[in-house]
Amino acid sequence: MKIDVIGSGSAFSKRNNTSSIRIIDCQQNQWLIDCGPTVPRAIWQRNIGVNDIQVIYFTHIHPDHSSGLAALINQWKSFKRTEPLTIFCQAEQQQPLKALVELAVWPETQVCFEIHWQDIANEFEWKHWQIRTANTQHEMANKAIRISADEKTLFYSGDGRPTTASQSLMKDVDMAFQECASFEALSNDSSHGDLPGCERLLVDTGAKALGIYHCFDEAIPSLLQAVRDIPDMFLSRDGLQLDLEDIELSRHVFDSLSAGQGGKL
Ligand SMILES: [Zn+2]
Repeated sequence: MKIDVIGSGSAFSKRNNTSSIRIIDCQQNQWLIDCGPTVPRAIWQRNIGVNDIQVIYFTHIHPDHSSGLAALINQWKSFKRTEPLTIFCQAEQQQPLKALVELAVWPETQVCFEIHWQDIANEFEWKHWQIRTANTQHEMANKAIRISADEKTLFYSGDGRPTTASQSLMKDVDMAFQECASFEALSNDSSHGDLPGCERLLVDTGAKALGIYHCFDEAIPSLLQAVRDIPDMFLSRDGLQLDLEDIELSRHVFDSLSAGQGGKL
């Protein structure tokens, strides 16, 4: 399983793309998780084919996680995508996403490829992937996701402070990505994660590696400094590419990230 970090930034970051990852399994199946406003351009810069992404999974629909959908669908329409697309979202969040799809093709009403809308269940399968989801603590319902495929397991929080349920999805994963807005501890009723909480997560869940992301711009220098002293934690960044099959190479990347150098495989 390969992970391509499309964006690692917070909602209004001036330096990073809005948070999103692309997952590619050993059969070249591709998912995009979340699609904020700067994600489409980052995808176009990668020369990803218009038919390559089979699924978009929305953790929730705050605009920094969803508003890029209109531009992405518009590009797929303009460059004549033919393959079906599956969109996973929460049932009560589907309507605003459908409005973005309408915007993408307006004044036409038909998209030139099929879109299959799927509600997010607590547990489901997709091809050979085993998937579990759970709510984090966030301003709107946000579904963190655990994906097991090709004998590797990945956790991605979306937005929000860890809950007992989301924490249980992180158990023993090969890699976890946890939203971490702040260097300092935030109050327990906060909508966002923080570094002290992420340090506890690493210990409590047995995750083999934890990438923190969606950090406020102003917190990034202190977070970068702090992760240098926390084994198995790294600050995610735009363009980071990780291969869970080759954890040693990945570890080299963490080390270089912790040292503040580049980090592309
Ligand atoms: Zn949010």
